[in-house]
Amino acid sequence: MRVGDYIDAYCSRCKRVMDHTVVSMEGSEVSRVRCRTCDYEHTYRPGQTGKKKELTKEEAFNQVLASVMGTIPGATEEKPKKKKK
Ligand SMILES: [Zn+2]
Repeated sequence: MRVGDYIDAYCSRCKRVMDHTVVSMEGSEVSRVRCRTCDYEHTYRPGQTGKKKELTKEEAFNQVLASVMGTIPGATEEKPKKKKK
C-alpha cells in the first residue's frame, strides 16, 4: 500500500464503504484517505471496512475451482439423453 493507491474505507459523508485514495502514510500504515466519490479527506481507521465479508484463501480457491469446473469444455456440450424409438 502506498500513497495514491485505492483502498476501501468507510466514508462518513457517503455513510458507506467507498473507494478511497491514499493521501498519506505512517510507516506501512495508511494514515489519511480521500473519498473518490465526494472528495472528503479524512483519517483512515483500520477495521472500518469490517462490514465487508472477506473470503479466506480456501474459500477463494474453491470459488475459482467451481468457476473453472463449470467451464470445462464438454461439460456444457453434454448432449441430453433422449431415447427416440
Ligand atoms: Zn464520500
